[in-house]
Amino acid sequence: MKKLLIVFLILFFITGCKQEKQLETVIIKTKVIEQQQNGIVEKQGEKTKPIIHNSVNELPVAGNNRLIVIDAGHQRYGNNAPEPIGPGAIETKAKVTSGATGVITGNLESQINLDVALKLKGKLEECGYQVIMVRTSQDVDMSNSERAKIANENKADAFIRLHCNSDDVFSTRGVLTIAPS
Ligand SMILES: [Zn+2]
Repeated sequence: MKKLLIVFLILFFITGCKQEKQLETVIIKTKVIEQQQNGIVEKQGEKTKPIIHNSVNELPVAGNNRLIVIDAGHQRYGNNAPEPIGPGAIETKAKVTSGATGVITGNLESQINLDVALKLKGKLEECGYQVIMVRTSQDVDMSNSERAKIANENKADAFIRLHCNSDDVFSTRGVLTIAPS
């Protein structure tokens, strides 16, 4: 049986949002120079510009109402029926697995993911984000592609998938974050 590690994939930091000054979204043209295989590419992006307000009772709006979809990885029971690994892909994999289990605690990864997801939801909402949860129960049957569709169809600004990775080597520690380039 695999050892369970507490490794969560969180795509951005949310700590300290209450201390932030109120933000107002202002489009500032920025140039990001990226070295790519075929030369230098310039990109334009958006940034937020801090607007200082004197009232200490103002609600934090760091999230500025942007929409985050949170997927607590796995579910109590897996579903081994195949589905394409991506839109239009020929290669398939199991729709969803049940995840790892703690060797000593017996804790289910799916339950830990859900507990953390619910805490994250509260934190994000405190920071002024809107949140949609892919699941709030262990007893669902939702494939990985169905989970992605929830984020896409709601036009989420970010899709966060939480997992606890496992490894047979007990000394393995750490946090892993994966983000699309
Ligand atoms: Zn997992």
